[in-house]
Amino acid sequence: MVARVALDLILRREFDYFIPPQLEGQVLVGSRVKVPFGSRLILGSVTTLLPQSEHPNLKSINKVIGEHAHIPPKVFELARWISDYYCCPLDATLRSVLPEAVRQEEPGWKEQLVVTFVNEPTDAHELSVRMREILALLREKKSARLALFLKEAKTTSATLRKLEEAHLVRIAPEISERDPYANEVILPTQPLELNPEQKAAFEKIAASMEAKKSTSFLLHGVTGSGKTEIYLQAIARALERGQGAIVLVPEISLTPQTVERFKARFSSGPLQTLVAVLHSHLSAGERHDEWQKIRQNRARIVIGARSAIFAPVEKLGLIIVDEEHEHSYKQEESPRYHARDCAVMRGQLEGAVVVLGSATPSMESFFNAQSGKYTLLEMPTRVDDQKLPLVRVVDMRLEARHDKGQGVPIFSRVLRERILQRLEKGEQTILFLNRRGYASSLQCPKCGYVAGCPNCSVSLTYHRHNQKLICHICGHNSAAPTVCPEAKCRNPAIRYAGIGTERVEEALPKLFPKARIARMDSDALKRKDDFKRILGDFRTGKIDILLGTQMIAKGLHFPNVTLVGIIYADLTLHMPDFRAGERTFQLLTQVSGRAGRGDIEGEVVVQAFTPFHPAIQYARRHDYLGFYDQEIEFRQQLSYPPHGRVAMLTMRGRNEEKVSLCADHVRKELDATLGSAGQFIVAGPAPAPLLKAENFFRYQIMLRGRQMPKLSRYLQGFTERVKMPEDVLMTIDIDPVNLV
Ligand code: ADP
Ligand code: ZN
Repeated sequence: MVARVALDLILRREFDYFIPPQLEGQVLVGSRVKVPFGSRLILGSVTTLLPQSEHPNLKSINKVIGEHAHIPPKVFELARWISDYYCCPLDATLRSVLPEAVRQEEPGWKEQLVVTFVNEPTDAHELSVRMREILALLREKKSARLALFLKEAKTTSATLRKLEEAHLVRIAPEISERDPYANEVILPTQPLELNPEQKAAFEKIAASMEAKKSTSFLLHGVTGSGKTEIYLQAIARALERGQGAIVLVPEISLTPQTVERFKARFSSGPLQTLVAVLHSHLSAGERHDEWQKIRQNRARIVIGARSAIFAPVEKLGLIIVDEEHEHSYKQEESPRYHARDCAVMRGQLEGAVVVLGSATPSMESFFNAQSGKYTLLEMPTRVDDQKLPLVRVVDMRLEARHDKGQGVPIFSRVLRERILQRLEKGEQTILFLNRRGYASSLQCPKCGYVAGCPNCSVSLTYHRHNQKLICHICGHNSAAPTVCPEAKCRNPAIRYAGIGTERVEEALPKLFPKARIARMDSDALKRKDDFKRILGDFRTGKIDILLGTQMIAKGLHFPNVTLVGIIYADLTLHMPDFRAGERTFQLLTQVSGRAGRGDIEGEVVVQAFTPFHPAIQYARRHDYLGFYDQEIEFRQQLSYPPHGRVAMLTMRGRNEEKVSLCADHVRKELDATLGSAGQFIVAGPAPAPLLKAENFFRYQIMLRGRQMPKLSRYLQGFTERVKMPEDVLMTIDIDPVNLV
């Protein structure tokens, strides 16, 4: 027998090896193996088993790692699908599928010395009184970590070694599992009684599980409609049926608060199981242990970000994708997979039920629900019939005129007045601005100078706290000048344009001297627990106004927040992206959803320079369907998703002219060979909206059409055929989310 192996080296191809007789039967698809490659031994994953190979002189597999195949068969099928659909070689795909922490040859468990009581001493043992005391203490404990026990018993390891020689105790290394949530106190919760809307949705999901049909549901429930409770009860149902579950949440909402809700429900009772957590802030060791808990079938529930879709859960019965519209589900490097679409695919492969949940479903998912690909579940009201907040849109152009000569104020009169009211009543306010820093650009009004990034085609953001100009694309930073840097100008009156969160934070105390204010954005969070601490202070009423970026837009649930102010609602509208409207609608709806989650009705003030834009107006009315209907028309006219699919080819390199020439060449090749894979509209090449990023110039060609799998196959052949010069790179992004 022969095994085809994808090496960890990423060579964009696979290699065949003999399975030596002594390893026969141990090598499976998905197994990790060690194989000779050149003069070295390299690790890799088995992708195929063959009776023989067309290659002569095969070398033999050296070793099989672990007892089980690391990648279960269905996950392997998913990896193959990703590889084909997203045009990514299998070896590169497998690198995303299997976390680095579990790829090593030696298992990555942390071991600690543990001392265990084994035998009662007899009179034959000549023990000192002190030793008998130590032994008595250990008898009580049965076993303990050596280091801790030494401290507690106030003794030395030499003493314990003597007891070990007398066969009274045993000292041996034991695996000590790392638990990233070890310090959390998690109180168990009981299932809530579902309201009629929740019940209807839950029963459809449960019936589907019962029927063992792989159905994908789109759970469209407004913020606060109780979607999470449905997830929890559906998971409980899966466990009762002996099945496991995966819950995907966007990285940004993997807060301790979210994780706790899942751990709390399954921490005790008949359905007790470990809940494994996978996200990017785990240490390699923690990730290894969490993954192994899943692989060993001890954790039956996994909650994690994007890559948790590859978790090796056995008998997977349920996959939940919360906030399914979130763009972070798309991986922005190869393999450029979308975790939501992979969830649906994995559901089909495993015969599992998939639930995609959102208050603002993506256009793609709602379209799929309308066409019958997904089953739509609607929950239009909040739990306990709380009203959705009243949203007021303020036309900032009028505010500018009002404040004569002062330019546009940060706060409209309405927002100022509303914040004051909240402060008087002891209620809380959330202010949202999706731009960090102090000012988005630094300009000289005299000579027109704008501080730009030397590596990217964007202006630098001014950060006041460290007096720096920082590029939000590449991180380049330099000291902020105090006079115009142009040699001929040197104007001391340089101007900061485009407000950021730092600027708002500075303005707040002047308007509301008594208010207690906190800012939450990635600059403000310096230490690991800052996020938790600020939220804790807000929850306990130590903060009146919480100001932040999209970090505070979702998932947070504070009953005393009765006002949400959106400082600049049109910020996302001006992005050169066909999803700009959708994105704005989603963000406004999500942020508004933070208001009025308690007994008092909430209010939202939206400040905008284009107040009549449909994305803003439909968000104001909480009218998802209205927004969808007008947006889908625009998408149809231009064959944009969900009415067609997009593939984006990007050529990048340091020499703009060369990149542009290559892009022209690619276009010619496409025109000449696309043929029957065609019925695709080809646009470009054109410079990317952000032409230069991190010193690379980028040119794009966009293809739009319907039959994506066919195009994927064509593009795979295309990349193998069309050779680029060394210093120009072509990437293929299927169903791209980021077009800039
Ligand atoms: P969503 O995820 O849809 O925004 P949540 O699941 O966070 O909504 O629910 C909002 C609040 O309502 C939570 O505090 C939750 O505990 C509570 N809740 C959910 N379902 C019920 C129910 N059936 N009865 C009482 N309270 C509920
Ligand atoms: Zn830059």
